[in-house]
Amino acid sequence: MKQYKTPEQKRKFYDSKEWKRTREEVKERDNYECQECKRQGLVTIDTNEYSERAKRKKIQLVVDHIKELEDHPELALEIDNLETLCVMCHNIKHGRVFKPNINKWDHDERW
Ligand SMILES: [Zn+2]
Ligand SMILES: [Zn+2]
Repeated sequence: MKQYKTPEQKRKFYDSKEWKRTREEVKERDNYECQECKRQGLVTIDTNEYSERAKRKKIQLVVDHIKELEDHPELALEIDNLETLCVMCHNIKHGRVFKPNINKWDHDERW
């Protein structure tokens, strides 16, 4: 069984042809829409916006492992364990974003 514990192992996986092919399959299955946004009745699709700083197209959609790659290496290329998420939802899932200021939200919603 392959292991994807170290950054190096993960990098190799995400660079692999198999992953790139599977990733595209998943996005196509999900109609290039964020599935988490969809569950909330929103539509978030890929954009073709170009990031000057990164010198490439801005990443809008990622393909996420529902059961994490690290814990379930056997599901690495299992299409049922993959879903398309937008960068925002993906960050939230992994707890990488600060919660928006509650007061600000209250204020914004009073339009
Ligand atoms: Zn989303
Ligand atoms: Zn993820």
